[in-house]
Amino acid sequence: MVPVSQAWTVATYVLKQKLMGRKRYPLVLMLEPLFRCNLACAGCGKIQYPAHILKAELSPEECFKAVEECGTPMVSIPGGEPLLHPQMPEIVAGLVARKKYVYMCTNALLLKEKLHLFKPSKYLSFSVHVDGQREHHDFSVCREGGYDIAMEGVRAAVAGGFRVTTNTTLFDGADPNSVRDHFDELMAAGVESMMVSPGYTYDKAPDQTHFLGKARSRRLFRAILSNRKKSWEFNTHPLFSEYLMGKRNFECTPWGMPTFSIFGWQKPCYLLQDGYADSFQELLDTTEWENYGAKSGNPKCANCMVHSGHEASAVDYNFGSLKGFYETAKKYMFPSTYEDEGAMKLLNEWPKAEHMPLVQIATPATATTKSSELQSVSGD
Ligand code: SF4
Repeated sequence: MVPVSQAWTVATYVLKQKLMGRKRYPLVLMLEPLFRCNLACAGCGKIQYPAHILKAELSPEECFKAVEECGTPMVSIPGGEPLLHPQMPEIVAGLVARKKYVYMCTNALLLKEKLHLFKPSKYLSFSVHVDGQREHHDFSVCREGGYDIAMEGVRAAVAGGFRVTTNTTLFDGADPNSVRDHFDELMAAGVESMMVSPGYTYDKAPDQTHFLGKARSRRLFRAILSNRKKSWEFNTHPLFSEYLMGKRNFECTPWGMPTFSIFGWQKPCYLLQDGYADSFQELLDTTEWENYGAKSGNPKCANCMVHSGHEASAVDYNFGSLKGFYETAKKYMFPSTYEDEGAMKLLNEWPKAEHMPLVQIATPATATTKSSELQSVSGD
């Protein structure tokens, strides 16, 4: 659950958009101030850029201009690894001063040592990328010991009074029983809430074999999210969670979470790169939106269920009609544990995932990272 003040801010923002009759409005800005990273995950399509791109970064002023231009109440800062940006504390402080709810996505390898550069605030949440239990996470991010460092960062941030959420991306081969145990571990570490989403097949990702198709995604998420424990808190919209479990369908609203990076405003979404616009308005006006989403027949969208495309659809449905509002209010007032015998059977019969030996992939970002940061990451 998100704090009431955040839910209120988002609700009033969306209602205002509806009253203004805006057909396409953004909900969360995906602000990518850099692409370099201190990991080289097999499922990531970001760090395969050439060195000169990996060295580039947005200035604080460019970040603030983008935020003001699109006007969303929430800003997510993915990357790359945002903590490698030398002006990240200044960027976050500027966004907090503008009363934006900021989710700074981090692999947390540098979180503990950089925590003192940030101030706890209801507007700031560290969204820590943890893909599963120790063995699974280390395999997923191709870094032995990555899980332990990330969890150390989580505990340090929680102890420091920060809001800490997590994001978990699942690929083919994920073991739902292990994911459920992972949820227990995260809640025990004191995280506020968790987000879980299927991965997307990036053209540039080195591992093209482990992405989930839609039917397999729904089966996996039904097994994971049904019969859920009352202690688990999620920071995704409840109807998006039902979408993942195959209980309802949403079309993609790619403009709901627009992306701004060193290249400009990315068309049409966080995942695809079909060109760039110089301004947010130009992005809205010149993107051929009808070419995207499952209904469009675009093969790049056929298997996509990611939150950056579909959670805004759930929020829009929530505020789009009395029916949507009533259904959502009920979910928040009387949260369901989604009892489902079939899902329990799935869990009991699910084969245990076997990982291949972990292979560390060379990290291009290491060429552009300060030596002190590298030492802290490698522990040398
Ligand atoms: S379906 Fe996925 S890939 Fe296609 S536009 Fe939406 S978010 Fe992007």
